[in-house]
Amino acid sequence: MQSQPAQIQDWPLPEVRGKYLRDVALADLCWFRVGGTADVMFMPADVDDLSAFLAALPDEVPLHILGAGSNTLVRDGGVRGVVLRLGAAFGQVTQTSQTHMLAGAATLDVKLARAAADVSLSGLEFYRGIPGAIGGAIAMNAGAYGGETSDVLVEVEALDRAGNKHVFSADDLQLSYRHNGYSEFLVYTGARFEATPGDQPTILAAMEEISAKREQTQPIKSRTGGSTFKNPGGANPQGPKAWKLIDAAGARGLQVGDAQISELHCNFMINHGQASAADLENLGEQVRTLVAQASGEDLHWEIKRIGEAV
Ligand SMILES: Cc1cc2nc3c(=O)[nH]c(=O)nc-3n(C[C@H](O)[C@H](O)[C@H](O)COP(=O)(O)OP(=O)(O)OC[C@H]3O[C@@H](n4cnc5c(N)ncnc54)[C@H](O)[C@@H]3O)c2cc1C
Repeated sequence: MQSQPAQIQDWPLPEVRGKYLRDVALADLCWFRVGGTADVMFMPADVDDLSAFLAALPDEVPLHILGAGSNTLVRDGGVRGVVLRLGAAFGQVTQTSQTHMLAGAATLDVKLARAAADVSLSGLEFYRGIPGAIGGAIAMNAGAYGGETSDVLVEVEALDRAGNKHVFSADDLQLSYRHNGYSEFLVYTGARFEATPGDQPTILAAMEEISAKREQTQPIKSRTGGSTFKNPGGANPQGPKAWKLIDAAGARGLQVGDAQISELHCNFMINHGQASAADLENLGEQVRTLVAQASGEDLHWEIKRIGEAV
């Protein structure tokens, strides 16, 4: 007889000071608003609570980290094991020196941009245009409008799977275009950023411009996940752009059920309301096929797809 895979009920969860939630609807926590439930969600009280949890959690329990869910497609069957979500205890941002800001990993990128602007620090304006949190920005080397995380990140505070605390320099993470090269499991808990003293009205004007540009060029009020595919040319401005390849392949506006390639920005997928995660994933795969047929380019998903299909 074949043995059943272990279930979450088979593992005693460590004693914690934070919160466990059961059968959490992940659609409520992700921008696409699709996907199944997490068996268990853990929201640690603070870094020490998280460290003790990781130290006691058996290695075989699947563990996934969810930030603001702006780059994540949760499949319809949900996520087995534990989903870790950092809350308010990790959402502080402070100025630590004339040119440095310290942000908890659950701080929204826009909050960091605004806090830097409040103290007239320049260089973090680009975060105004990215709807994720700092942990996700480090994991993805998020960037926009000529700036990216690797340009401004000094060091990160992180925990490994065994709960040990580390401080890594930005170089240790080997960040490149939408990629973090650190290969072992890490939970980022905070990060230090370097900026330069600037003129506050100029900083605020740059943030306003980013905000206005985004409204014009991205479907930011829709249920979306941002750029679906990485640009094959990476950060090279002369390299091939995913949206151009998708457009040339005739996939702008392509639809699967209630999932559609945005007419406004054809590297964005949209859930018009009733799409399933499978509709969105199938749509993305259809686009990859069309682009490969039209141009020979193999598009790679930028969006993280997690969990089980049904
Ligand atoms: C409308 C829209 C516009 C967007 N525009 C841009 C853009 O211009 N530029 C850009 O780069 N991105 C953009 N994105 C994508 C997205 O906002 C970024 O990738 C963002 O950095 C993801 O952060 P998040 O907190 O939402 O991460 P999530 O989607 O929750 O997770 C993404 C990845 O980060 C990991 N992660 C999250 N937190 C942690 C942590 N604390 N420790 C370790 N790993 C962690 C997750 O496990 C996952 O692998 C856009 C998305 C939307 C919806």
